[in-house]
Amino acid sequence: MVTMITSNRMKNLHPYVPGEQPKDRDYIKLNANENPYAPSPAVTKAVVDFVQAHPEKLGLYPDPDSLELHAAIADMLNQSGGVLCRAKVDGGKVTPAPEDKIPFTVTPDMIYSGNGSDEVLSFVFYAFFDSGRKFVMPEFTYSFYPVYAGFYNIPMDNVPLRSDWSLDTDEMLKRAAANQGGIIFANPNAPTGIGLKREEVRQMIKKASPDEIFIVDEAYVDFGGESCIPLLAEFKNLVIVRTFSKSLCGAGQRLGYIVANPELVNIVTTVKNSVNHFPIDAVAQVSGTAACHDVAYYVETSKKVAEVRDDFYSFLKENGFYVIPSETNFLFAKHPNIGGDELYKGIKAEGLLIRHFSTPGIEEFVRITIGTKEQMEELKKAFLKILKK
Ligand SMILES: *Cc1c(COP(=O)(O)O)cnc(C)c1O
Repeated sequence: MVTMITSNRMKNLHPYVPGEQPKDRDYIKLNANENPYAPSPAVTKAVVDFVQAHPEKLGLYPDPDSLELHAAIADMLNQSGGVLCRAKVDGGKVTPAPEDKIPFTVTPDMIYSGNGSDEVLSFVFYAFFDSGRKFVMPEFTYSFYPVYAGFYNIPMDNVPLRSDWSLDTDEMLKRAAANQGGIIFANPNAPTGIGLKREEVRQMIKKASPDEIFIVDEAYVDFGGESCIPLLAEFKNLVIVRTFSKSLCGAGQRLGYIVANPELVNIVTTVKNSVNHFPIDAVAQVSGTAACHDVAYYVETSKKVAEVRDDFYSFLKENGFYVIPSETNFLFAKHPNIGGDELYKGIKAEGLLIRHFSTPGIEEFVRITIGTKEQMEELKKAFLKILKK
């Protein structure tokens, strides 16, 4: 009956399945790449002050241009170089690591923000990919990209990864040149955790046609990758997508953004204004702005996550796992004798959630989000218990 009343396009919808959020017991949640730390106390204060001092503002529409937020994001990027875990903090002042310094000043007109980078990505897909031309993406990458391809009816061309799980950049370029439909990848990639160097991305874009759009999703770059923001000085066909959900401890705030040439920012804004002429809500604007004003806090939390990750990497190696070296806040690992599903279930029985994908090709792996040191010690105990069985 229901199929009679739905539109034809409903058939192309294959919604994303997020990491489970069970309510039956208090699990230690290491399955959705959330950050284990709360946002900066400055964020809490800003939100409380805003709601208490200006309750009337909740009754008014928010700033349609999110000007303060965009200025704060640009400033955070200039201070950190776009890679929080390598930035230096000295007496509260944040400076980028020399290799991350952006050779120009990121300006607010280079920023567009939206309701999580998922929404931002959706508008980016709408703006730059076409239903008549295949866009190129890696076979294993963020699993929301194929969802948007279905939603907007855009054909895709999946390029297998190399045998070491890295992106096959040559093959991606070759297919992009043939298809003329653009490229998207996450850098570092998910769920593998491997990143391309900025120079590798630069060579890719240089070899491609200037009319080919490159979309680089930097959701995890703050934990140790190389940001492509510096390449914006050279290329006008590059869009960088970033999020507050991972390194800015803000998954609940639903804030994502792009950094790109202002002309491309305007194009994405046109898409948004054709769907919903208001941006993210007033409270999210306040909380996001406050987060960006306290870069030092997030430099520290990102460093902690990277440290705990490296420790857990060694633990997995010592216990016979195959682990892909990671520049992110998660590890992708498999054991020679225990299947991914079995591992996931065994860990769940111990009160911790990790992620298992049943996708053929990666079904032997589990993806482990890096939590606090204490949470990871609990996870070590659970792993050891399963390994002993
Ligand atoms: C988590 C993630 C996102 C989505 O982030 P939100 O801002 O929470 O929507 C986008 N891309 C990749 C690769 C991610 O892992």
